[in-house]
Formats: sequence, C-alpha cells, structure tokens
Amino acid sequence: VIALLSPGADAELVRSELARLGLWASLERTADGASVMFVIAPHSAHCDVSAIQKIRGVQSVASSASPHPKLDAQGSVVDVAGIRFGGDAPVLIAGPCSVESESRIFKIAEAVAAAGGSFLRGGAFKPRTSPYAFDGHGAPALRWLRAAADAVGLRVVTEVMSENDVALVGEHADLLQVGSRNMQNYALLRAIGKSRRPVLLKRAMSATIEEWLASAEHLLVHGAASVVLCERGIKGFDTTTRNLIDLGAVALLSQVHRVPVIVDPSHATGRRDLILPLSLAAIAAGASGLCVEAHDDPGAALSDGPQALTLDALAPLSRSIAGVWNATHGAL
Ligand code: PEP
Ligand code: MN
Repeated sequence: VIALLSPGADAELVRSELARLGLWASLERTADGASVMFVIAPHSAHCDVSAIQKIRGVQSVASSASPHPKLDAQGSVVDVAGIRFGGDAPVLIAGPCSVESESRIFKIAEAVAAAGGSFLRGGAFKPRTSPYAFDGHGAPALRWLRAAADAVGLRVVTEVMSENDVALVGEHADLLQVGSRNMQNYALLRAIGKSRRPVLLKRAMSATIEEWLASAEHLLVHGAASVVLCERGIKGFDTTTRNLIDLGAVALLSQVHRVPVIVDPSHATGRRDLILPLSLAAIAAGASGLCVEAHDDPGAALSDGPQALTLDALAPLSRSIAGVWNATHGAL
C-alpha cells in the first residue's frame, strides 16, 4: 500500500497517524523529489484503505490487489449450519480419528454433546501413510456419523479425499474437511467448491500461510459457501511432538487477516497430554475453535490412539477453553 502525500503535508504527522493504525511505513520520494509518499510495510496491521485516506495530508492511497479477495471479503465470522465460527464463543469439534463402528460413534457423540461440543468429527475416508493401515469404513461410516450426531443435536464434519466422494460426503456432512495432504489438490478443491458447501481447510504440513490462503481462495472461487481454516501443525526439524504447532500463524490470521481459524492440537502434537495446554494457548492466540480427537478406549483405537483424549477429558477441556476465551477476548 502506498499513501501519496499532498504537497506541503506534514510527513511526521502522517507517520504518527499511520503508526496509530499499527502501520509501519517508510518515507520515499520520487526521483525528481516532486512527490512524497509512505510505503506501508507488508507486516503491518490490517490495512484499512479508507482509514488511511482520512489522514490529514494524505492525497491518495494506492494498493495492489490482494491474491485472495474472496477470502478477504468473507469476513471473520462464518456461520455453518447455525454454528458461528469467529462469533462470541469458541467452537468445539471433537470425535474419533476414524469412525470405527456404529455403537462407538454413538457413545462418543453423547460425550461430545454433553461436554458442550458443536460438531462431531470422525473420518469415514482416511488418508493413511501406510497402505496397510485402516483407511476407514467409507459410506456406512458416514451414515453412522450423521445418525450419531443427529441423535444428540451435533453438526458433522468429515474429510473428503476424492472428487468422486464429494456428493456422497456432502449428503452427510455440514462441513466438508479438506485434509492436510490435499490442501493443494486443486482438482479436489474445485470439486468441493462446486458443491457450494462450507469447508474446513486444514493447512498442509509444509504450506506457507500464503499458499494456505490461496487454497481457501480456490474453494471460494469455485463456489464454496464459506471456508474456515485449521492449523494442525507443520513439519519442524524435531519430531518429539508430532508436528510444530504454528500459533503465530493463528494470531496473524485471526488478528490481522481477520479470517476464521481453528486449531487441531491433536494432529499438531500427537500426544493426549499436550492437548489441554495447547488448546488454551490456541484460544489465547485468537483461534475461534478447536478440533480434537477423542475416543472411549484410546488404547484400542484403529488410528491415532496416542493423541485421543478420553471422553471424560472433554468437559474439563471445554470449560477451560471457555475460561481462556473470556479472559482474553476483551484484550484481542
Ligand atoms: C484428520 O483430521 O482426520 C486428519 C487426517 O488430519 P490431517 O489432515 O491434519 O493430518
Ligand atoms: Mn487422526
């Protein structure tokens, strides 16, 4: 963004007004010295062009087009089936890594609802690193997931792995999840966008923030009703915790870009004993919700058992994040 000053304007006054808006700028002159302008640094606060234009001494403001105009226009609040991300309470999504059986998902759904959760999660189609690992029950699991959620008044979020499954998953889910491994599968993003449904877009493990935002833009360009972002940890050099949870990205996206972003501390850390502290940190950083894995018998889980919370841990988690939300949201 460039703010061109009127002839004779008091540049120091303009600089202090820009600083008051959280904008860091360098003063530049055209080669002939005829025009003076401030070039605003890209890592400043969110640039409200109309606020800059109102500063005394600013003649005009030029800004380059955003690479993700539709995402910018979406705003910070997204309503998915009556649940508001970025509204006045944190959204809790919980459930098993994979939907393992009808009776089990009903049991887990009850605990999620009792803890104050809004969405039931669970994979019917699972992306697995090993081709020998359990990869989900497919269509029957979608029916169990939907029925279990409906029985206790929860919404459903589940992953779509293939363009061929978009319609089927869309019949059962309120929110379609794009997994990390597919964040840059543009054919899938197009197909999901065309379904006009809301989407939960997980960050790829080595995607930059701008690549992630560009993928959100792909979904919106093709017609997605809305996009909520999900930070789930990126690859670091140390695998002691499964991934590296990027809370700086969460703060940037929620506070500066003003897009709804939630955090998945389960895939981010791989350990159930780190879920609570990182959930609290995520909410304090500005996350509008959490996606956590939970299981009635984690030791017997068919996938991701070590990172699954036990069902009795859900209510304390939910209470604790409400406490952090209330304590920090005045300040954010
Ligand atoms: C999941 O949430 O089920 C999942 C597979 O996560 P990710 O895509 O973040 O690895
Ligand atoms: Mn998992």
